[in-house]
Amino acid sequence: MSGRAQLMWDEAVTGYDFGPGHPMDPVRLALTMRLVEAFGLHRGPLEVVAAKPAGDSTLGLVHRADYIEAVRRASADPASADLDYGLGTEDDPAFPRMHEASALIAGQSVGAAEAVWRGEASHAVNFAGGLHHAMPGGASGFCVYNDAALAVARLLELGAERVAYVDVDVHHGDGVQAAFWEDPRVLTISLHEHPQTLFPQTGWPEETGGEGAAGSAVNVALPAGTGDAGWLRAFHAVVPELLAAFRPQALVTQHGADTHFEDPLAHLAVSLDAQRAVAESCHALAHEHAEGRWVALGGGGYAVVEVVPRSWTHLAAIAGHRPIDPTSRVPEEWRHEVFRRTRQLAPQRMTDGRTPQWRDFAEGGYDPADRLDQAVLATRRAVFPAHGLLP
Ligand SMILES: [Zn+2]
Ligand SMILES: [Zn+2]
Repeated sequence: MSGRAQLMWDEAVTGYDFGPGHPMDPVRLALTMRLVEAFGLHRGPLEVVAAKPAGDSTLGLVHRADYIEAVRRASADPASADLDYGLGTEDDPAFPRMHEASALIAGQSVGAAEAVWRGEASHAVNFAGGLHHAMPGGASGFCVYNDAALAVARLLELGAERVAYVDVDVHHGDGVQAAFWEDPRVLTISLHEHPQTLFPQTGWPEETGGEGAAGSAVNVALPAGTGDAGWLRAFHAVVPELLAAFRPQALVTQHGADTHFEDPLAHLAVSLDAQRAVAESCHALAHEHAEGRWVALGGGGYAVVEVVPRSWTHLAAIAGHRPIDPTSRVPEEWRHEVFRRTRQLAPQRMTDGRTPQWRDFAEGGYDPADRLDQAVLATRRAVFPAHGLLP
């Protein structure tokens, strides 16, 4: 597997900052980029590219004009933020230059989509992106502009007839699902903690797509507490068969790192090693089913020192075709940088010491009494027949 890979990065994405005490601390992005650099990934494996901010016509592929205008107003005068648009809330407080920072992140994902579609790169990564909760007409869940939906929309605009979106953030990818609810050209698959126990309380298996797009939305609602074996079992029981049947021309993936057992905002128990395994699977699936075209995005992740930088550095390294051995030591220079910026001690190795394993759903059967298996079956029953697959 080869081909050029791009890492989308403009240091100014760290201006996406909801302020002190907010979980979405931009230090998570800066520390990730520093770790990428400490491993030398920016010298060779990945070409670092800064794309332009998304302009109004691009933002308008997903977002309503009145919402974009409301973001602009809140950006110029945060005190005037309009709650009707989800701005100025506890989750999405307005901040100066909010529009500019959000449009810059969106621009990186759109630029990634363009590079991959035009063949300038086979894979492109924007770990500052993956802001999957933003709705066409409102901010939600720390997300202002939905760069993930915009990347998909741009691929369609450039001529793609089928695009698949796979979201493994611990939260439901509700904004992307909403953007393409009635669009049969886009298959959205989200694996997340069950809506009964987590924001945004959507992503039930019965949500399968709107008018004219039956089966185009896929939701796997995982029981709280799901660990590596269950998470990987669910991923492999749902994603590969659907991608094989759908035959996308490009794959967009969202790699929120908040599935991790150390994450403070959710209740799954996934390790860094399983997150890395899923990134590798997404890479392989892009080559197998999407003509190698892969746009990989970040997402949530609030263990900003312990988890996020390592998880997304693995992701970037995989996209750059120079994967990092999990047993590698974390470079000392980066550990110093972490301490300097956060006064926290950084992890020492690129692993949590787990060896991810799972049982295949197709072989060996399933256990009707097991809650994970019930979740997987509910999803397969809800959407597999629409794709000509056996549940
Ligand atoms: Zn590749
Ligand atoms: Zn999340």
